Amino acid sequence: MATFRERALNEAASHGSGRYYSEDRPVSEYFGQNVLDLDKMRGYMSQKAYEAVVASAKYGAKLDRSASDEIAAGMMKWAIEMGATHYTHLFHPLTDSTAEKHEAFIKFKDGKAFEKFNGSALVQQEPDASSFPTGGLRNTFEARGYSAWDPSSPVFLMDGTLCIPSVFVSYTGEALDTKVPNLKSLHALSEAASKVARLFDENVAAVRVNLGIEQEYFLVDESLYNSRPDLMLCGRTIIGHTSAKDQQLEDHYFGAIPSRVSSFMKDFESEAYKLGILLQTRHNEVAPNQFECAPVYCEATKAIDQNMMLMIIMQKVAERHHLKAIFHEKPFDGVNGSGKHCNWSIMTDTGVNLLSPGSTPTKNLQFLSFYAAVIRAVYRHHYLLMSSVATLSNSYRLGGGEAPPAVMSIFSGSTLYGVFQSILNMSDVKESSDNSLESIKIVNSIPEIFPDNTDRNRTSPFAFTGNRFEFRAVGSSQNVASAVFVLNSIVAESLNDFHAEVCRLEEAGESRSSAVMAVVRDFLSQSKDIMFEGNGYSREWELEAERRGLRPIKNVPAAYEVYHEEATEKLFGSIGVLAKNELDARFEILSETYVKKLQIEARVIGDMCLNHVIPAAVKYQNVLIENVKGMKDIFGAESAELCASEMATLKSISMYINKLSADVEALVNARKKANVIEDMAERARMYSHEVKDMMDEVRDSADHLEMLIDDEMWPLPKYRELLFF
Ligand code: ADP
Ligand code: MG
Repeated sequence: MATFRERALNEAASHGSGRYYSEDRPVSEYFGQNVLDLDKMRGYMSQKAYEAVVASAKYGAKLDRSASDEIAAGMMKWAIEMGATHYTHLFHPLTDSTAEKHEAFIKFKDGKAFEKFNGSALVQQEPDASSFPTGGLRNTFEARGYSAWDPSSPVFLMDGTLCIPSVFVSYTGEALDTKVPNLKSLHALSEAASKVARLFDENVAAVRVNLGIEQEYFLVDESLYNSRPDLMLCGRTIIGHTSAKDQQLEDHYFGAIPSRVSSFMKDFESEAYKLGILLQTRHNEVAPNQFECAPVYCEATKAIDQNMMLMIIMQKVAERHHLKAIFHEKPFDGVNGSGKHCNWSIMTDTGVNLLSPGSTPTKNLQFLSFYAAVIRAVYRHHYLLMSSVATLSNSYRLGGGEAPPAVMSIFSGSTLYGVFQSILNMSDVKESSDNSLESIKIVNSIPEIFPDNTDRNRTSPFAFTGNRFEFRAVGSSQNVASAVFVLNSIVAESLNDFHAEVCRLEEAGESRSSAVMAVVRDFLSQSKDIMFEGNGYSREWELEAERRGLRPIKNVPAAYEVYHEEATEKLFGSIGVLAKNELDARFEILSETYVKKLQIEARVIGDMCLNHVIPAAVKYQNVLIENVKGMKDIFGAESAELCASEMATLKSISMYINKLSADVEALVNARKKANVIEDMAERARMYSHEVKDMMDEVRDSADHLEMLIDDEMWPLPKYRELLFF
């Protein structure tokens, strides 16, 4: 067998299962031990400094110099007790990963070594950040960017380093990360939702977003992974013939977890528990070697920070197990890809889930208000919301007959859908006195819906599941903040409109409940086209969506144009989440990232074909040639008939080798042509058409050759080995 592949398979076979991070204490004893939460902070600083942290964490109050010095000293004390030597601001640049720059606590002065961490280092760090994507917001010659502590997320310890969750902004204050717009959107949503909630309960002062993030991933043996240049460099297989058996028997989903995987899960879970990540579920997913885990939901910022940490922990722990955790949305053709379902709900500071229908008419009227506002938000900005998950890697999954379809829709379930239909069909809302209103009857008739009893529609990108929406289209490798801030923002805008409309009707003399009901009905009727209960993967829905004027994502770079649309600028501007220059920067960065990733993929597929596939094909060709020659020596003219099959294979191989060489050359030329285009957006579009299409051609020949060539000679681990090992 080709030595490369053989060695990988032998190594993989030698990797057993074991525990490397096992704890014999009950989880409750070490849960959160590496996090310095508000409670623990109390013991490391004066009451005054502690109160300053609380005010800052909960209400965004500014910290003065002396308080921040004391807080920093307290944090360092805790960190050193826990064995730390360094600190770092940890931020989320626009790369879908985290960034960190470690600084030592140790200082040296007058012949003496001592540890120091002061308030200004806690509050702000200036990473030499010239090579993060900035979309023109900052030139390299003035490479200044600042990371600043985000007190709403607790500091924690990882690998002997005190990690300080931070935002990342430019010298002139523009957002260079995913966290800033998200924090702003949470604020805007809280303001807008509180106003609407106060129509029903005057005591509401703030509304928070809760997120429960389900994480899907694949596991591949490290040795096999390392012998696939495409997995190593692009996170996915760019060539590879599908395995005869993959997920068709549905025998993996929820099946018994293999012991090596189970050890890995237990290990990363105990590391996650130490960081206060409340992982609750683990199971096998649909595709072979695909798995999922989910924590219990919590406040959005914390949930997002924790998800980013979880991905890091999983990678680190996987190393010990000689495994690779793959978060790419579509690492293998022909089997399901991975997503990151975002379960999103909103809750008042008085503890009411605003998306939970209740037992009283008031509660239900409130529920309907929020539900209608969400529906209208998603309807108006359905293309923007779908664009927020449009990345190169997610595009291999978008619209591919698995979650999610390329067009946005909302699934409500039969009970609610029926209620909405009755509201839309009812006679004039304003007619008679409040009590006899038909609408009130409908509101009264809404049953309490229990999350466990709701119908599920797994083909919907945005489904109501009883007390929350499940945004299922988010990609598994994405930082969900980039999708969630869009969702928060559009809902904030919609709730502001809802409130203004109710106030206008009240001023015109309507009672509150009939004003609310009228706006609910108006919002539902404006946006009914986004509601769809059927099969989101079907061709009929594609056509129906088009008839309804819903815009599907047909092309990823083209989808980014939405950031230049007037409605988008107005949306983010009016609620103060992103200014025009920040939107322009995001557009630039998204387009450029798309190009760079596709460029890498195109280079890798070219290299793999020229350096692995064609040489193997030629070797096998020679074996066949020798065989045919030998047959001719023995059988003479008769051999032509006897060797018909070898000859046919020889011809096929030659044909595919020629086609492959020509296509790789065409691919290089397509890249060259695209690379000279100055305008990044146009270059991205060119890549998305010509380069991507050419890659499909190349793959097709390579995969045919894989089927023709002697298995012993094939140099790359095959799908069956990657997926079933
Ligand atoms: P399923 O696969 O059926 O969607 P999971 O248990 O895998 O269910 O994931 C559900 C996720 O939704 C969990 O993270 C859970 O904590 C979260 N969740 C439950 N209720 C809410 C809520 N009210 N708001 C936000 N997330 C929620
Ligand atoms: Mg789910």
